Amino acid sequence: MYRFGIDIGGTKIAAIMIEATSEKVCFEKTVATPDHYEGLCKAIIAMVKEIDSAFYPFTIGIAHPGSCCPKTGKMRNSNRLWLNDESFIADLEQALGQNIRSSNDGNCFVLSEAMNGAAKDHKVVFGATLGTGLGGGLVVDKKLNHGRNLIGAEWGHIAMPWVEAHELPGPACYCGLHNCLESHLSGTGLARAYEQQFQKTASAKEIVALYHQQDDQAIAIMDQYLHHVARAFAMVINLIDPDAIVLGGGLSHFTPIYQKVPALWQKYLFCPSKVDTPLLCAQYGSDSGKRGAAWLWPKTKN
Ligand SMILES: [Zn+2]
Repeated sequence: MYRFGIDIGGTKIAAIMIEATSEKVCFEKTVATPDHYEGLCKAIIAMVKEIDSAFYPFTIGIAHPGSCCPKTGKMRNSNRLWLNDESFIADLEQALGQNIRSSNDGNCFVLSEAMNGAAKDHKVVFGATLGTGLGGGLVVDKKLNHGRNLIGAEWGHIAMPWVEAHELPGPACYCGLHNCLESHLSGTGLARAYEQQFQKTASAKEIVALYHQQDDQAIAIMDQYLHHVARAFAMVINLIDPDAIVLGGGLSHFTPIYQKVPALWQKYLFCPSKVDTPLLCAQYGSDSGKRGAAWLWPKTKN
């Protein structure tokens, strides 16, 4: 028995085949993400057909942007807008003749890290992807907490807590609200803050590079970023008090996060003694999406 995991990213579709018992990786493939719905379905079907005879039988898990509405079965909240309102999983199940499990890419990331990655020794794991956007997921006892409405741990559009008057109303978010965590913690949000404060254009990656070159403005904006990250995670700890927090996405490689944020979050915590919540960097990095998708089927099914 094998597990096939597929991660639909903005630029590439990444797939992995894992042998269910040994957990050995047997096959990996990456193809460009098509820019329309029919192309996406065709690409995934072609990937499955390619491995069909070599690894039979296998489960299929898919990590996708947005979520699949539990009432209609249609996609929603995807930043690939052409995917929204499509019966994506049902269409694939019909074409492939087998059941598919799917989840948001942020959920798959944290599942992978909680199963056998950086957070494998922890019971309650909150995961966050600090990438182009901001993802989140919660795993308890190696199982995803999707939530009643499949929006569990979708924390990107909660407002930044402990704001001061001069920070309001905060940046406008594409969701229609202001001051969302995604507007502050994502790479996109970081670049926008830099542009607004210093009238300069730079990507999050470039700002981090400037920080390491001791650029004063980059140091100032990254210091502000660390405070934002600390406030956001203090809220998570106050609400869930997870056994570990694990980070993925491009900004998870900004190492001052691990050195400074645990000291910064303490002042916001409803806990008089110093908390020791581990703040971990993902073990599998960008591979976590496809690995987590493969883990959407529980071990007992194999
Ligand atoms: Zn928002």
